[in-house]
Amino acid sequence: MSNLALLGGSKAVTLDQGDIFNWPIVNKAMEDGTLKVLREGNMSGTDITKKFEQAYADWNGLKYGLAHSSGTAALQCAMYGVGLGVGDELICPSTTYWASCTQALTLGASVVFADIDPVTLCVDPDDIERCITTRTKAIMVVHYLSYPADMDRIMKVAKKHKIKVIEDVSHAHGALYKGKMVGTFGDVAGYSVMSGKSFAIGEGGMLTTNSREILERAIIFGHYERHVELTDEKLKAGSCVPWGGYKYRMHQLSSVVGLEQVKKYPAEMAEIDKAMNHFWDLLEGVPGLDAHRPSKKSGSTKGGWYAAHGIYRSKDLGGLSLGRFCEAVQAEGVSMCIAGCNAALHTHPLFSSIDIYGSGSPTNRAPLRHLPVTDGIQTKVFNIPWFKHYRPEIIAQYAMAYRKAAENYRDLLPDDVQPDDLKGKWALTSRKI
Ligand SMILES: *Cc1c(COP(=O)(O)O)cnc(C)c1O
Repeated sequence: MSNLALLGGSKAVTLDQGDIFNWPIVNKAMEDGTLKVLREGNMSGTDITKKFEQAYADWNGLKYGLAHSSGTAALQCAMYGVGLGVGDELICPSTTYWASCTQALTLGASVVFADIDPVTLCVDPDDIERCITTRTKAIMVVHYLSYPADMDRIMKVAKKHKIKVIEDVSHAHGALYKGKMVGTFGDVAGYSVMSGKSFAIGEGGMLTTNSREILERAIIFGHYERHVELTDEKLKAGSCVPWGGYKYRMHQLSSVVGLEQVKKYPAEMAEIDKAMNHFWDLLEGVPGLDAHRPSKKSGSTKGGWYAAHGIYRSKDLGGLSLGRFCEAVQAEGVSMCIAGCNAALHTHPLFSSIDIYGSGSPTNRAPLRHLPVTDGIQTKVFNIPWFKHYRPEIIAQYAMAYRKAAENYRDLLPDDVQPDDLKGKWALTSRKI
């Protein structure tokens, strides 16, 4: 008889998980702060938001922060900030959440999808180069599943072709690329800070930049109440009404939480990093499974390890399907072991055939490209648990669940009749399609 729980054995995970997965961690200062904002009726003010913006920018070592109502809004303002407009092209990896690029269509620009690197799962710098045309205005770099993208090579390509770089840091707040914080390499960065992310303060987004010009373009586009801060004469001449027709300010229940979260996030991140690295250290050498993390000597880190995944090598497990492997791990007591990641955006009709604004032709005008790594990725990645605390006994049980399934793969082969037909999810938090 097999000792796999799926086949009648006992489960690997037996300990009470306690608060190891609870997120965000809410302290007294956050509770008192939100109550004060509520009681004072100060939700729509900007006094606390401005303090949060400065604290967030300082933490990143950048000059400016501009808080938004969502990460989607922050990234749209970042796109407008670098001058993305009618007829331009934005290069973006296809494997990401839709809010990395869909806003480009609202600016009259098109999205050109690039392939990803099979190790980092971030945009492949060589493929960026193949996407460049005379219309390319900017690259959207996503530090995907908290893995820092290869910024050295990306910045080289961007400089060579004189294109702007926007970083989508929604998965990687506080992560380091070769010792330097992600979000500080490009012209501007956008971050989601909604409740599911590693920097979680409620619905909200942040834009950071060292460029006064980008900051002011973001302000004119979606922050009418901040138009008094403008110094650019051309922008000032058209101020008081937001050029985008959007109102994007952050409500202060989020910013008051954010002001506190900036202070405690580095310590929380350090504990998450220790716990998650411990999980992967325990799985070192297990056949078929690779950690999705930068090497220790690279000086790169995964920050708060948002949506951490592992890489699956089916051929080292006798061709066992990823679906069957995940089923076995789930049976060990790990409900979060789900196959796949974000569905490839280039396969969605919004980017090939849909006419959003009634112009009579598809809104996205860029031709679709063949993306071989993206097309195969759904059968090569799986979720791992997101530990918020270093509790070695509990972590060891979760690691054992993955180890058991991999080491006993032969027991799983006989009933592995379903070939993998996984397409991924349009959002990591929603159900499979
Ligand atoms: C969550 C997310 C966003 C958008 O953020 P919201 O705050 O949900 O609007 C953008 N990009 C990526 C990669 C995300 O995961």
